[in-house]
Amino acid sequence: MDQFDVVVIGAGAAGMMCAAEAGKRGRSVLVLDHAAKPGEKIRISGGGRCNFTNLNAAPANFISRNPSFAISALRRYTQRDFIALVERYGIAYHEKTLGQLFCDGSSKQIVDLLLNEMRRANTELRLSTSVDTVEKTPDGFALTLSQGAVRCRSLVVATGGKSIPKMGATGFGYDLAQQFGLPIVETRPALVPLTLEPSMLERLAPLAGVAVDAVAGCGKTTFAEALLFTHRGLSGPAILQISSYWREGDEIVLSMLPGVDLFEELREARAQNGRQALQTALSAFLPKRLAQLIAEAEKGPANLADHSDKRLRAIAETVNRWRFKPAGSEGYRTAEVTLGGVDTRHLDSRTMEAKAVPGLYFIGEVVDVTGWLGGYNFQWAWSSGWCAGQAA
Ligand code: FAD
Repeated sequence: MDQFDVVVIGAGAAGMMCAAEAGKRGRSVLVLDHAAKPGEKIRISGGGRCNFTNLNAAPANFISRNPSFAISALRRYTQRDFIALVERYGIAYHEKTLGQLFCDGSSKQIVDLLLNEMRRANTELRLSTSVDTVEKTPDGFALTLSQGAVRCRSLVVATGGKSIPKMGATGFGYDLAQQFGLPIVETRPALVPLTLEPSMLERLAPLAGVAVDAVAGCGKTTFAEALLFTHRGLSGPAILQISSYWREGDEIVLSMLPGVDLFEELREARAQNGRQALQTALSAFLPKRLAQLIAEAEKGPANLADHSDKRLRAIAETVNRWRFKPAGSEGYRTAEVTLGGVDTRHLDSRTMEAKAVPGLYFIGEVVDVTGWLGGYNFQWAWSSGWCAGQAA
């Protein structure tokens, strides 16, 4: 039976980072993945350009039942450390918006960087290999695999979340945690488009494809980013962000013209030219199809002059304080990440090692640390992977 110092399950962002780091420390490392290719989520990320980190990454950008857990890892391996690695490989990148860093070329450059780091550290990668069983031995762990069996001193679980099952996502990491007595914080799809009730969807159908800069709020949390109407409901960064905070039954409040006092603007337009159609006046501020839908929903007079202050106020309210209850979300099929995961109270925040099971580590998305949209989830993968790589 093959014996390694470290076995990493999952050749994704966190697993590859961890393997390279452990290998650099002279550990013999085996990385296992049931997929035929490593780093598939990296490859499809950021629209093929991988939003690999965020200049402003800080603990406040992460959601966890234990918000202070991520502080140590994010401090030990920062976005600046990963940017320096990207620069060492001569990978050109740019800031798209809000501190989000993307490759100029292709996300494959990040996969190649990690594979190269692993090669330089003499780690072994076995693809198309699944893990059937894991058992504790007196000095580590014994794994039976789809081909053969291996033993190791340290076992690192980097199997990611449940999102995009058709790309190989499984609940394996959560099952393994439970096998070793680590509880799971309830998981749910996050960074996911929200769906609408059929009647509302029908009313908004003409808007499919329309985008606006918006502020989406749920409770006390708000995000100012783009919003996209789709033929299934609502998407775009503002909606994906707020979806991580939304729970069934909660109301979302949308401002589709933030920073503009639309009531005052419409009053002014009425004073200037009362014969102007409401739709025309709204089109000065909103995409044409949205302006048309709002004007048609008014069912009242077409001209501004015929609209009372009360009506103009109601229209402004619809645009800037539209409240609705989503029917649900699109689920793991399209979610970018999984909220919840291995309960961090049972992990050492410096090393990611299970407190009650020496030698067992959980890193990346399988842990109950979920980033906002914008490169934060990869930064968590790099930081947590790096920390485990220093300890395993
Ligand atoms: P993963 O990268 O998911 O890797 C897990 C690995 O484990 C996979 O290779 C999988 O095949 C393997 N595995 C799973 N189960 C088993 C098993 N039972 N046995 C063996 N192997 C197994 N985040 C960003 O920060 N920026 C972005 O631009 C971005 N874009 C995204 C776009 C999309 C479409 C999606 C879905 C996600 C995106 N994310 C982005 C989120 C990011 O991809 C994840 O948070 C990140 O990949 C998590 O890293 P990980 O290593 O924990 O898991």
